[in-house]
Amino acid sequence: MPIHPPTIAEALRYAQTRLAAASPTPQLDAAVLLSYVVARSRALLLAHSDRSLSAAQWQAFMDLVARRVNLEPIAYLVGEREFYGLPFFVDARVLVPRPETELLVERALAWITSQPAERPLVVVDLGTGSGCIAIALAYHAPRCRVYGLDLSPAALAVAERNVARHQLGERVTLLHSDGFAALPEAVDLVVSNPPYTLLDEIDEGVRRHEPHLALDGGPDGLAAYRELLPAAAKIVCQTQPGAVLLEIGAWQGEDVAALARSIFAAASVAVLPDLAGHDRVVEVLIGGRGA
Ligand code: GLN
Repeated sequence: MPIHPPTIAEALRYAQTRLAAASPTPQLDAAVLLSYVVARSRALLLAHSDRSLSAAQWQAFMDLVARRVNLEPIAYLVGEREFYGLPFFVDARVLVPRPETELLVERALAWITSQPAERPLVVVDLGTGSGCIAIALAYHAPRCRVYGLDLSPAALAVAERNVARHQLGERVTLLHSDGFAALPEAVDLVVSNPPYTLLDEIDEGVRRHEPHLALDGGPDGLAAYRELLPAAAKIVCQTQPGAVLLEIGAWQGEDVAALARSIFAAASVAVLPDLAGHDRVVEVLIGGRGA
């Protein structure tokens, strides 16, 4: 390890070596972390790789590299992750937004677009976490009002910050809620990325650092869906078309679809794959009685 603050090139080399065992992308991680520390783009870093870091920058960089060696997600280290084209503040209080969850937003926006343009819509995101789903929907669908519910007050503090950042406070309402208990009105669309993993089967870095409340799907991974689906049937408006869109684990399509069919008997239920070809979303389309 360099003793005096090294040059950018030396710091990157040091970090790449340390990160090789912990990360599949040591070079990228090193560049992202150093670029965060010096508040300069990665391109600029490479263009000035013979410049020396200050002592404070070098210390801050070494601290971040050590946290990454301990498998902490890059998003927590730099406090940010992009989702559906928008930047979100994140830290260990919330799950890091995942690219595969963008499918849920895409299907929700497609359903919203399929509804008559004059119909105002109310949406609920159960287990909103960072607020990324609720905020992406409100941002891209100006006719929607969106409730973001979470059992974790700590997660809601993060979501609050993201709602403010995107200036959506008038249309996104965050509520501390056990299930849908705090929801004050019926909704047209329910979306959720509930906890569905088997904790002892997931990536070590995810298990070590991300909130288990957002990940732990119980003994068979389906606990959240068993609670959520019957509760959703009570709060989704059934007189007009409605929808329930749920993220699922790749192996859960049949089970969650069967649960959904048993609860929404008249609905059309589909399992949709993500870009990697893994089943990722269960879509429940409720026709409504046209009242
Ligand atoms: N997709 C996440 C993971 O596998 C899990 C998200 C969840 O449980 N909702 O790490």
